Parts: sequence; C-alpha cells; structure tokens
Amino acid sequence: MCLDCAGRDTAASNGHRNDRSETARTDDDGRWKRRRFLQATGVAAGTGTLLGTQSGRVTASHTECDAADRWVEAANHSARDHGIDWIVIHVTAGAYQGALNTLTSSDSGVSSHYLVKNYDWTEGPSAGHVDQLVHHDRAAWHARYIANHRSIGIEHEWFDDNGITDACYESSADLVRCIADMHDIPLEFYTSKTCIQNEPGGIIGHTHVPDGDCNTFDHGGRTCPYPDWDMDHFADLVRDSDGGGGGGDTFEMGDDVVTTTDLNGREQPCLNDDVVLTLSEGTQAEVMNGPEQCDDITWWGLYVPSANEWVWCSENYLAHA
Ligand SMILES: [Zn+2]
Repeated sequence: MCLDCAGRDTAASNGHRNDRSETARTDDDGRWKRRRFLQATGVAAGTGTLLGTQSGRVTASHTECDAADRWVEAANHSARDHGIDWIVIHVTAGAYQGALNTLTSSDSGVSSHYLVKNYDWTEGPSAGHVDQLVHHDRAAWHARYIANHRSIGIEHEWFDDNGITDACYESSADLVRCIADMHDIPLEFYTSKTCIQNEPGGIIGHTHVPDGDCNTFDHGGRTCPYPDWDMDHFADLVRDSDGGGGGGDTFEMGDDVVTTTDLNGREQPCLNDDVVLTLSEGTQAEVMNGPEQCDDITWWGLYVPSANEWVWCSENYLAHA
C-alpha cells in the first residue's frame, strides 16, 4: 500500500527521475560514497536540476530551493575546487534591475547564486522575490577565489542606506535554511573577519571573508553587506523558523529511525519517483540526508541496513528508534 500518496500532486514533482546507474556504480564503494550520492541526488531531486550526464530531463524550473521564485541564468561561473561550507551575504549597492543585469552579464565579471529583491518601490518584482542565477554545484563570482569556491553567494538589493525590509530578510532566511540543509552548513553566523579556511562553515558577510590568504580582508574598501544588514536579526529569523512545527529538526544526520507502518522508500524525495523498496512496519534505518520538501511532504534520506539500500521516505511514518 502506498501510504505516502496522500495529497499526491504529480505536477509539482514533474521531471524527477531515478538514476539506477549511479546507484549501481557506487554499490561496491562503501558507505561514504553512498552517502555522498544520496546528498547529490537530494540536491537534484528538490529542484529538477540535471544530474550527471543524463539528457532529456527538461523541466520548467532550475531553481534548487522552494524559496527561489525564478531561474535567470548568469554567464559567469566556474567548476568548484572545494565543497560548499559557507553562505556569503552581500548587498548590491544598486537597485534590483540594474543589479540583475550586472549579475547575469558576461561582461561584468561577476555573478551570484541568488538575488533577493528588497524594495517594493524599485523596478521589478515585489520585495522578497528571489532569483537563482547560478546552480550550487558551480562557483559564482561574488567574492575572491577562495570564498567563491567554498560558498553560495546571496545578493540583496540595497542602496543609499535605504535599509533591509522584513520581506527581504524573511525570503533570505528561507533560502539560507534550504541551502544549509542541503549542504550541511552549520547555522553559525560570523560577524568579524574570519579565516574561513580554518572554520567549519556558516553564514558570513562579504566584508568578513578573506581576499585570499587570511592576511587581507580589503575588498576594495567596501563594507558589504553593512552597515544596514543586521546579522543578529537575520540569525534569529533563520533559527526561529527552524524550530517548532516539525519542518527541519525532526531528525539529525545519523539518527536511528524506525518505520511506523509499511512504507515506500523512493529513489528521490517526491511522490512520483520510483519505489526502490517497501519497508515493512518496524524496519530500522539510519538518517543519511534531508530534510527535503516535495509534494507537501518532508522527506528523509535513509540507509536501510537490512536491505542494503538507500531510499527517501516520508517523515510522516518515521519515528526515532
Ligand atoms: Zn559583496
């Protein structure tokens, strides 16, 4: 029985496919690689992005978080040489439309993963609108080399001491929670110059990341995202919405869980993805990834030792073991 099919909405998860070849390829490579695989597919599954070299998976949206409203492709980005452990906060020092043009133009020499609209009174969408410009697996050009390769960059419309609106803070907080969940980035907020190479990761303003080695934090004298950005307030918003309501903190990586009914385990975290196996009630598993949101369901990536399989299951039928 398909107990996770309540509220099924195939349109919402259109385009998610399984990738058994990837699964098979890593079968002999041990748990660490399998976990890496699960994380990689989790990123793709929330979003409709292409995974690996598969073709023909055309989807309407290339955004990777529900918090992003629109995909607008930037020209400037590079292959990463490091994993993602930071989120760098910026302000544009210019109105939205001009900033969008700059961040997507090949001539500008810059880009960012995201641009958040701050004001209702400037040209463009309403305050709180989020554009995604670069996919997470590529390094955007929003800071200096080291920071670019280790981070996701979020630009926020801002200029002339006009402040940061609640709508902008709230959209950005949603976005940061999604990115942090996806890439296991600690919800630690840094408000002074930090040698990011020596820290476990977190959220930091542009002006506080190093230019290269940790001796210089110059940034051409810019103070982005300050003085108007309030990192303490932002931290409260990000952390507050992470509590209560069960959306995000129900389980931690490595938690032992048990199924509370017969439950489908899927290749990807959406209802129309292939069922890898059906876990009978009482099956033990370990949380390896998540949470992901799809079809109004919170999904967790699980390793099921009894079947030696990695699957995604609905949170609704999982309990701590
Ligand atoms: Zn900046």
